[in-house]
Amino acid sequence: MNWNDDVDIFSANSAKCPGCGSNIFFNEKIGRLVCSFCGGIFTPETLEPTGYIEKRDIDEAGEEENNKQEFVCDTCGATLVTDYNTSATFCAFCGSPSLLGRRLTKQFRPDLIIPFKVSKEQAIKNYRAWVATQRGVPKAFTESATLEKITGFYIPFWMIDADCTTLVGGTGQIDNGDNTIANFFIDRTIRFHVTKVPFDGCKKISDILMEAIEPFDYKDLVPYNDLYLPGFYAQRYDKSAIDMLDVIGIRLDSYAENLVKQFSASEYDKITTSSAGSFADNFSQLYALLPVWFLNIKYEDKTYSIAVNGQTGEASGSLPISKAQVNANVVKEVFRWLPLYLCVTAVVAALFALVSIDRGIYLQLFLMMFGMTSLAGLTVFIPFIRKKVRFLKFNQTVTIDKAPGVEEYIDYSGKIDMEKKDLFSHISIKVEGSDQEDRSMFRLKKRTTLLELILRQFFK
Ligand SMILES: [Zn+2]
Ligand SMILES: [Zn+2]
Repeated sequence: MNWNDDVDIFSANSAKCPGCGSNIFFNEKIGRLVCSFCGGIFTPETLEPTGYIEKRDIDEAGEEENNKQEFVCDTCGATLVTDYNTSATFCAFCGSPSLLGRRLTKQFRPDLIIPFKVSKEQAIKNYRAWVATQRGVPKAFTESATLEKITGFYIPFWMIDADCTTLVGGTGQIDNGDNTIANFFIDRTIRFHVTKVPFDGCKKISDILMEAIEPFDYKDLVPYNDLYLPGFYAQRYDKSAIDMLDVIGIRLDSYAENLVKQFSASEYDKITTSSAGSFADNFSQLYALLPVWFLNIKYEDKTYSIAVNGQTGEASGSLPISKAQVNANVVKEVFRWLPLYLCVTAVVAALFALVSIDRGIYLQLFLMMFGMTSLAGLTVFIPFIRKKVRFLKFNQTVTIDKAPGVEEYIDYSGKIDMEKKDLFSHISIKVEGSDQEDRSMFRLKKRTTLLELILRQFFK
């Protein structure tokens, strides 16, 4: 498809929404023109509508919302919706006690809800069990007084249905068994349907954390009812589905890559893929509230978030590792470099011994230098290593689990259609004892041909 040529026509902001007349813009992640005013989605070539994402809860609260109230946090701006009998004494996002209660300002009408199944006690128990699998977590993260503050939230999620078309490129390798590898360029177009892929509509909780406690079991999904609210707080969405098209596009692309890998497992011995462009059509969305136990913990000027799935009990979060663990890592690092340091000083010592006539003076000099470098090591290198280890520590804090696989949301009842246009690329030699291929043969061959050409020019 040559849609790139057509897109240029619209990049000059000249396209108007056929639905409402607002300016529409090309979203490259889903390969469609999007009207963020009315939610219309259109094909770039024809301006044909291919989907629609509706706006929600923008109207004034009606009388049926009189049974609810909202608390607004003075410090971080979080808004918590709950029934009139549930009060809030602190904000679970920033810990601030200054919450202002008021009647609902805007409608609050989700389509669906999964009610809480996991009690607060069970959530804390599951969290503790999960922390026990992580090494060197500071005590502050398991103290009962802290965990007592874990709060039950209904988090707004957009559940997206869509027809996806993704172009996937990459390379595939087949081991011929005779020390050669056949290489292929992978070029595929895959079409599939996804149902109810959840996207967190709340900026206050990171998408990664939410994906980590997925999947939710949709068998408990019921029409929304205010009766599920007492004792819990619902978050208002602050990202509408149309603002999330980039994130949606990225996730659908990764699903497509996964599908290609899954279906190609038997065709190639090794495969690497990347998405080369996507289109998504027939978008539809549902506004669902999903139950999550959530807590922000402040530690050494940083905020760490933990979450427990309120339906399945799965716990996840980001955690630092303790000072003791950091120190242990420093010692480990020092011992790693110690042999090298000793070797260097031994060589220097040997050189001194060789060139010196009056050994006494040189030995003194050498000892002085040894002492100075050791001191330098202590004052310069140890902090350097500490810093390095602290950086490692940062990477290690990300203990958040991975998002669930493609299986959870792909509609396997429909046809998953894959067009293959894989091209044979070349044969390469397998290097003994590793799965690295050796392409030098081909470089060599190319060079020889070039050399041959030059020689031929000379000896014509
Ligand atoms: Zn429009
Ligand atoms: Zn707050």
